Amino acid sequence: MSEPTEPAAEAAPKPTRIAPIVTPDAKSFWAAADREEFIGQKCSDCGRFRFPPRPMCPHCHSLAREEVPLSGRGTVYTWAVPRHPPPFGFREPPIIAVIALEEGIRMVSNVVGVKIEDMRHDMPVEVTFEPTMGNHKVPVFRPRR
Ligand SMILES: [Zn+2]
Repeated sequence: MSEPTEPAAEAAPKPTRIAPIVTPDAKSFWAAADREEFIGQKCSDCGRFRFPPRPMCPHCHSLAREEVPLSGRGTVYTWAVPRHPPPFGFREPPIIAVIALEEGIRMVSNVVGVKIEDMRHDMPVEVTFEPTMGNHKVPVFRPRR
C-alpha cells in the first residue's frame, strides 16, 4: 500500500484569453503590451495619432511615423456585452468597449473591474494588462480613480 502523497501546490489559473493575432504593422504594439507598455503610432509629419498601427497617415498620407508612449488614460465611448453565443476564452462575458484615448484615437478593448450596470458613457478609465494564452498580454481598461 502506498503512502498518501502531498497534494500539489495550487497553481495560479492559466489564462484562457486568446492571444492577439499579430500583424506585421502591429508587431511592436503587441511586443510592448507583453512588457506592459502602452504605445501608439504618431505621424512624424502632421503629429496626429492613429490606431490601429499602419504604414500611412490617414490624415496627410505621410509614411513617416514614430512609436510613442501613450498616456493609457481615456473615457468609455460605448460598450456591449456579448452573451450568446458565449465568447470563447472568457469565464464571464466580457465588457467590450470603444475607448476614447486622451491622444484623440479610439480603440476597441475590454473594461474590467466594473459591473455592467455601473458602466457609464464618458467614464474615466486607465490601461492595465491581462495575460493571455501563450504567455502574452493585452491592454484592457479599468475605472480610473
Ligand atoms: Zn500625418
